[in-house]
Amino acid sequence: METFYNEPFTNFALEHNRLAFMDALAEVKLQWGRKYALLVNGQRFIGEAVLPSFSPADHSVVVGYAAQADCGQVERAIESAAEAFTAWKGVKPSIRARILYRAAALMRRRKHRFSAWLVYEGGKTWPEADAETAEAIDFLNYYAREAQRLLEVRTPLVPYPGEDNEWTYLPLGVGAVISPWNFPLAIMAGMTAAAIVCGNTVVLKPASAAPVIAAVFVDLLREAGLPDGIVQFVPGAGNVIGDVLAEHPLIRFINFTGSMEVGLKLNENANMRRPGQRWIKRVVAELGGKDGIVVDRSASITAAAEAIVQSAFGYGGQKCSACSRAIIHEAVHDDVVEEIVRLTGQLRVGDPALFETDVGPLIDRSAFEKTAAYVEIGRNEGTLLCGGGGDGSIGYYAEPTVIAGVSSGSRIAQEEIFGPLLAVVKAGDFEEALAIANDTPYGLTGALFSQERMHLERARETFHVGNLYLNRKCTGALVGVHPFGGFNLSGTDSKAGGPDYLLQFLQPKVVSERL
Ligand code: GLU
Repeated sequence: METFYNEPFTNFALEHNRLAFMDALAEVKLQWGRKYALLVNGQRFIGEAVLPSFSPADHSVVVGYAAQADCGQVERAIESAAEAFTAWKGVKPSIRARILYRAAALMRRRKHRFSAWLVYEGGKTWPEADAETAEAIDFLNYYAREAQRLLEVRTPLVPYPGEDNEWTYLPLGVGAVISPWNFPLAIMAGMTAAAIVCGNTVVLKPASAAPVIAAVFVDLLREAGLPDGIVQFVPGAGNVIGDVLAEHPLIRFINFTGSMEVGLKLNENANMRRPGQRWIKRVVAELGGKDGIVVDRSASITAAAEAIVQSAFGYGGQKCSACSRAIIHEAVHDDVVEEIVRLTGQLRVGDPALFETDVGPLIDRSAFEKTAAYVEIGRNEGTLLCGGGGDGSIGYYAEPTVIAGVSSGSRIAQEEIFGPLLAVVKAGDFEEALAIANDTPYGLTGALFSQERMHLERARETFHVGNLYLNRKCTGALVGVHPFGGFNLSGTDSKAGGPDYLLQFLQPKVVSERL
């Protein structure tokens, strides 16, 4: 097994890379408007019900149509995944891993085309799209290696005289994968790949706002040699399909990334034992965040402001890791805020297909309206320093917005907005800043900028987030380097891209033989 390395990002400062990316954009544009089928037991279906996937940059553009599964089709998908499980669980882990390595290699070869779909369907800028495709490649390569590490080597137990004791891992069964629109390639691919490489089969429900990229990925898996029935692909309405998946007795686990509200509802549904159900369903959930960056009095003002602006406005704040609260020591507050506002003013909002764009559109009308509503709430809760406007006439463009003078208990400092709105909270001292940072029901990411060793150490101990970053931005976790997931209502702290991740899709068995 070769060592894992992260897929490098594309250097767009080089002209030949820019030209190659533009070629991919042109090529993918020619594919707009196609229909994408359901996949149940290796059979494709396109019925009457198809849903357009609109470009967030221009809502008159349909990038593709996804067939919509009905309840009966989802049930058939679950049953057929259960049948496929009987053979797939016995396939050698190295063979399952090889399919992932091959898929990663194919994706690398078509990297810019995958990224181009993310630009068009997700509204991602070039670097955001490129980083996401790299992350998808990483998940495939990383989980394939992890499966080999866990499943091909015998785990040592304490020796006992006269007995042979053996510890092995078995897959769980059929899993439901319900993936988010904000990382519609990387997170969807990671959640799916992790489950199947362990020997499970899955029913994949992609996000309704970005089903096309998922369909393209499922085709790639098949091209890489994935047998029929292992991944069943059922796009459709979340509230209908989610319930069928959560309640079905043959579903053994649910891997969900999305909002806290939906995650909690799925968890509740999955918790009840249904007739014929022979297990306690496992729920793996990555939910929201209300992530804060604390700036201490000793911090580098430019480094802190730059990190805050990147973390708050990268992909328009539509990341659960995004910084939505800047918590700033009063001694440096005004200087840091001035720099944040200056840098925010330089961001170019526009069409993500253009190289020069820094911030693209929001995913859909409801995201756009939600952000606008919170801007109004924020105007009453603090002082609007920049942004605040938006234009939804062509695409869903919202201006990066900074509101200062906000108290920790205010709505814009408590509720997840998932848009380009940064609340600035002033803290009297470092301890108060930490207390404000922890004053949220979430606990996903957070950062501290400080030059004081003891403050950095204090944050290590008491800043209660799954991913704490010291003197750097709080977005952009790398597979294997920054295993990702959070505490409290941010989810089950499942740590995607980490060494424990696959264990959630496995169950250990111990066999003790008297010799
Ligand atoms: N892993 C991503 C990051 O570190 C965020 C994932 C998400 O938003 O769901 O920025």
